[in-house]
Amino acid sequence: MFPQNFKNYFIIEFDKAFTFNKVWSDYHIVEKHLELQSNHVGAAIGFSTQKGEQVHARVASSFISLEQAELNLQEIGHKSFEQTKEAGRKVWNEVLGCIKVEDNDTERMRTFYSCLYRSVLFPRMFYEINEKGETVHYSPYNGEIRPGYMFTDTGFWDTFRCLFPLVNLLYPSMGEKMQEGLLNTYLESGFFPEWASPGHRGCMVGNNSASVVADAFLKNVTRSDAIKMYEGLLVGANSVHPRVSSTGRRGYEYYNQLGYVPYDVNINENAARTLEYAYADWCIWQMGKKLGRPAEELEVYKKRSQNYRNLFDPETKLMRGKNADGTFQAPFNPFRWGDAFTEGNSWHYTWSVFHDVQGLIDLMGGEKMFVNMLDSVFNLPPVFDDSYYGGVIHEIREMEIMNMGNYAHGNQPIQHMIYLYNYAGEPWKAQYWLREVMTRLYSPTPDGYCGDEDNGQTSAWYVFTALGFYPVCPGSNEYVMGAPYFRKITVALENGKRIEISAPRNSDENRYIRSMNFNGKNYTKNYLNHFDLLKGGRLTFDMDHQPAKGRGVNKSDAPYSFSREK
Ligand code: CA
Repeated sequence: MFPQNFKNYFIIEFDKAFTFNKVWSDYHIVEKHLELQSNHVGAAIGFSTQKGEQVHARVASSFISLEQAELNLQEIGHKSFEQTKEAGRKVWNEVLGCIKVEDNDTERMRTFYSCLYRSVLFPRMFYEINEKGETVHYSPYNGEIRPGYMFTDTGFWDTFRCLFPLVNLLYPSMGEKMQEGLLNTYLESGFFPEWASPGHRGCMVGNNSASVVADAFLKNVTRSDAIKMYEGLLVGANSVHPRVSSTGRRGYEYYNQLGYVPYDVNINENAARTLEYAYADWCIWQMGKKLGRPAEELEVYKKRSQNYRNLFDPETKLMRGKNADGTFQAPFNPFRWGDAFTEGNSWHYTWSVFHDVQGLIDLMGGEKMFVNMLDSVFNLPPVFDDSYYGGVIHEIREMEIMNMGNYAHGNQPIQHMIYLYNYAGEPWKAQYWLREVMTRLYSPTPDGYCGDEDNGQTSAWYVFTALGFYPVCPGSNEYVMGAPYFRKITVALENGKRIEISAPRNSDENRYIRSMNFNGKNYTKNYLNHFDLLKGGRLTFDMDHQPAKGRGVNKSDAPYSFSREK
């Protein structure tokens, strides 16, 4: 959805005069004119050239005006094509050079840097610099030219998981601008986006803007008016956009009253919505606490963050749709994709309790059963029910081809699941499966991706996992341990500090952590704290070919869970 005046203006300057020019409209050349206005028009030009001669085109575009497009063209200045290319290479090397990998496997290094490259392609900058040197943007929300930053083309359903946390760790100065862009979106449209492309787009489910906003705020990335942003989160949590039902919270009336979006009230993918709303409520609670909001208000979101419990079915130990009268959906096929869930089934979505894995462990009946359930995802055959979609969607086919049971890494809902072994005292199982996914599902070839890239999320997963940790619960300031993938990685943070991650004996066989050392001290926790990492330092891993079953088994070593919070 975008305003009537939405346009892309562009200008092309050639370094050689035309010898041919025509315009066309609806597949027909229009004679005697060089200007046309219609719904489907174009221009054709030609040059008289010698064999091998090159004609250079300098191109710039704008969402604001033709004059702004001309201004934007000045960015290239008088540089030649080669000089422009070189300047681009330099910028890319700076962006990608913040992580230095040292290893003897060049194929994997290629995969790594390809993934880092893809991680920084989205969201796209949607702002421009005007003649006074000010940052301005065309608002795809109200059609006005407004001051400040704006970004577009990212779906938070995908990218809240680890793409935005990667920005907050590696590129916080960009993250700061993105947060200002989010605030501008709220100010210009009354809502945070869930799927800006550009403007609000009706796509997917959830209220995951809460995670994106809260994570940046809690990591001190945000410099914009945090009170205003928090206010925007409250609006989005308690209403739905009048024309775009995936912005705000569809079904919020039911959710606020019953504690879940019912299965039988004609709101699709209701269980997925409930689970993501509950996590969003926890994010709002965390941000509200830091802002010192009134206790009664905080209590509402704290309480709602436990709404995931309403969908837990003790019989199957899985999340299941629930009717308005409190009975579970029946019949229930946990292999059914879509329906109560979004682009996944109950086996994929049951783990969407990012903020309270301990609570989920307790519901399932303890750590042993929880680990059994995690194991089952891999041990189950890759069976599925596609009847909701009326055919196999590509995400289902990708799960089949991967041949890892019902583990469907090609889509987002399950991408944090492997890390959950760390909450149940069996971190070596995470270390085993992460290595399997890294080696089997990613390669530097045209078919080297296991599914949709989805605005950098699937790549950012690889980048984090290669570092050896992953943000299971954005907003918690914690990264859950995996195991380093390379022998040595050095991360240069924007604050000038360095994180050196070394695992000299690392190999596909030596994939298990025997012991770990953080700045000279033995480290037994299954997580790392964001602010500890910001201080820089050395993480040294002693890797082994067999699991170190005594390591990381204590409850006190487990990552953050609401149910364990004092
Ligand atoms: Ca996807």
